[in-house]
Amino acid sequence: MTAYDVIVIGSGAGGGTLTRCLAPSGKRILLLERGGWLPREPQNWQARDVFVDNRYVSPDTWYDERGAPFQPQVHYFVGGATKLYGAALYRLRKEDFGELRHHDGVSPAWPISYGELEPYYTRAEQLYQVHGARGEDPTEPPASAPYPFPAVSHEPRIQQLADDLAAAGHQPFHAPCGVMLRENAMPDSACVRCATCDGFPCLVHAKSDAEVLGVRPALAHPNVTLMTDAEVVRLETDAAGTVVTGVVVEHDGERETFTADIVVVSCGAANSAKLLLASASDAHPRGLANGSDQVGRNYMFHNCVAVLALSKEPNPTVFQKTLGLNDFYFGTGDVDYPLGNIQMVGKSTAEMYRGEKPLQTRLAPEWTLEKVARHAVDFWLSTEDLPLPGNRVTLRDDGAIALAYRPTNDVPRKRLLHELKLLLRHTGMHHDHLLPRHAYLRNEIPVAGCAHQAGTCRFGTDPATSVLNTDCRAHEVDNLYVVDTSFFPSIGAVNPALTAMANAVRVSDHLLERLGAPSTRPEAAHAG
Ligand SMILES: Cc1cc2nc3c(=O)[nH]c(=O)nc-3n(C[C@H](O)[C@H](O)[C@H](O)COP(=O)(O)OP(=O)(O)OC[C@H]3O[C@@H](n4cnc5c(N)ncnc54)[C@H](O)[C@@H]3O)c2cc1C
Ligand code: SF4
Repeated sequence: MTAYDVIVIGSGAGGGTLTRCLAPSGKRILLLERGGWLPREPQNWQARDVFVDNRYVSPDTWYDERGAPFQPQVHYFVGGATKLYGAALYRLRKEDFGELRHHDGVSPAWPISYGELEPYYTRAEQLYQVHGARGEDPTEPPASAPYPFPAVSHEPRIQQLADDLAAAGHQPFHAPCGVMLRENAMPDSACVRCATCDGFPCLVHAKSDAEVLGVRPALAHPNVTLMTDAEVVRLETDAAGTVVTGVVVEHDGERETFTADIVVVSCGAANSAKLLLASASDAHPRGLANGSDQVGRNYMFHNCVAVLALSKEPNPTVFQKTLGLNDFYFGTGDVDYPLGNIQMVGKSTAEMYRGEKPLQTRLAPEWTLEKVARHAVDFWLSTEDLPLPGNRVTLRDDGAIALAYRPTNDVPRKRLLHELKLLLRHTGMHHDHLLPRHAYLRNEIPVAGCAHQAGTCRFGTDPATSVLNTDCRAHEVDNLYVVDTSFFPSIGAVNPALTAMANAVRVSDHLLERLGAPSTRPEAAHAG
């Protein structure tokens, strides 16, 4: 059997990035991914296939706290959730790393400061070829380098929205975007600036996802092996429980065990907790690395709303996710608690609305779905949800995930929506029509919309209250690390992927040092 230096489990934002950073070291790396390659096929860009038929959503069944089954919005492919993501690659705010008082309680401080993660944010932005413009967003944290690529331009209707917001005294900014777009050289641009980006896979591999910019470049190194359709079902340890000695994989209906000096779990927040809980043993009766009883707890996924406003003029925008607004991030006027982030989502189409009954019934008969789509301007609002110990992943007797979740910060979420409604008065919209977009958020069953899941194995300095130390190594197991969004002690109100990527770059430096490998920088992949 091949002995590996490192086994990485899960190839998404955390695992794919880590593998890419470790690859040039020459160390023998095995990347285990339960999914396969996402097929490149015309359906990648078909709204009906993607949004209505859930073609790329896993058929998993999870259960809510009452035992009701639901299909979670998770994606098992090489590249993980980033294959479908909107590639809005935000840094957390500097203040998110400290304690922040919210309407419903305190968002805890991280055990590392923004300053400690900053160089890795910069490296992650370079690795994922982020486009953006510094200095426009008043809440933006300090950065040691400019964005590697210029901001993606607004199309005319969104430029108008930006101008109207600015005229009303607001500070809209160009959203940081991971698409390999060269607007000044379109014939050479990998990205064709299409309308089927956010929530869709990219048919032409021009989205900065963890397959294209993490796994594929890593596989160019002969020391990296990828095994797809390989679900890790259990981690075994020595009798003392301090070293992982076996990674048990189900592949083609068979079980196989692999070994490595270092084992890195990066299955996504819910599945990483599932794996650790399923790896209980005499040495770890509550689950691997779970002496603190924190594994699975503090699950967060943002308190989000997706809405569409109806523009008085048609909105012919193709690539809409170019604008953000953080004016309410930390509060506003009489509100001294954080409200959150407002950004655009992908432009909606009539095809996506099929089955969205509220939309059909509230506007019929004056508005056909086609007319709604022609005038729709689509927004996404994120409010931070707080880590509660009772919001947690547990395992049912049949091994399936049970997810208990009680929302927090509903008052700020509603207030943020109210602020958006007020903004619409200045922006050429029908302000009496702000409609929920269930298909985008998949929030008919709120817990199913777990795109931004985080927090089930938080890192910290105290083994009694955290699962991982500040290197993201399990306090109780010397060679076990977790690098997906599980490590977040709080989630902030901006999208989580860049923070997972930056942290994976940070952990890769630590692992290279631990392995006695020279610190290497991954070579640049093709620039879009
Ligand atoms: C539709 C959508 C839009 C989004 N838009 C944005 C956005 O614009 N900006 C942003 O920042 N974030 C966005 N996100 C969220 C972002 O994609 C995630 O935060 C990020 O991918 C999380 O990274 P991760 O490494 O924790 O998990 P993932 O990227 O999900 O990776 C986990 C991987 O582990 C694999 N796996 C799971 N269990 C096992 C097992 N037992 N054995 C082997 N492999 C396993 C999975 O198949 C998967 O490949 C979006 C997500 C979705 C779904
Ligand atoms: S906008 Fe660009 S990156 Fe996004 S799906 Fe279209 S071609 Fe791919």
